[in-house]
Amino acid sequence: MVLESSPALRTSGFAFMTWTNAFRALDALGVGDKMRSHHLQVQGVRVMSPTTGEVVRELDLRVQGKLGPHEARCVQRNVLLQALEEELPRGTIRYSSKIVSIDDCDDAKILHLADGSTLRAKVLIGCDGINS
Ligand SMILES: Cc1cc2nc3c(=O)[nH]c(=O)nc-3n(C[C@H](O)[C@H](O)[C@H](O)COP(=O)(O)OP(=O)(O)OC[C@H]3O[C@@H](n4cnc5c(N)ncnc54)[C@H](O)[C@@H]3O)c2cc1C
Repeated sequence: MVLESSPALRTSGFAFMTWTNAFRALDALGVGDKMRSHHLQVQGVRVMSPTTGEVVRELDLRVQGKLGPHEARCVQRNVLLQALEEELPRGTIRYSSKIVSIDDCDDAKILHLADGSTLRAKVLIGCDGINS
């Protein structure tokens, strides 16, 4: 069960760079190919000086690296969130479910939600962004 404080799937934020290791994780979750079909592979990176505009470093990602070829794509946040939601059984994500406090109780955690309800969990993983 995923408890999400937002009332719906978030569409805020734009995109972020995902590299080879991220695609291994996305493949394990079964959404790697869906992401590949929506996002072009980045061929190279140029680092430029903000003062002179001079190219100070250039990286060709098509070249075979020490650990294999690089796979870098700029993934849109909303496309990724949508794909992850589609892979979960319907109803797994509970929106408008803001956790306000957590109590320890024997071998379980008691979650208190903003709407006054409580949930008991044997295992709890906090993924609340900057406070994780
Ligand atoms: C401008 C910017 C650019 C970035 N660029 C990159 C990049 O290029 N590559 C990269 O790898 N990373 C990038 N990052 C970092 C990346 O976005 C984060 O590491 C990643 O989103 C963290 O995922 P998360 O699931 O832990 O947190 P989040 O994506 O922040 O998700 C946390 C979720 O928890 C919910 N939540 C919070 N509190 C509660 C609560 N009390 N109860 C219930 N739900 C709650 C929130 O509504 C949110 O949906 C960037 C970040 C920013 C801000």
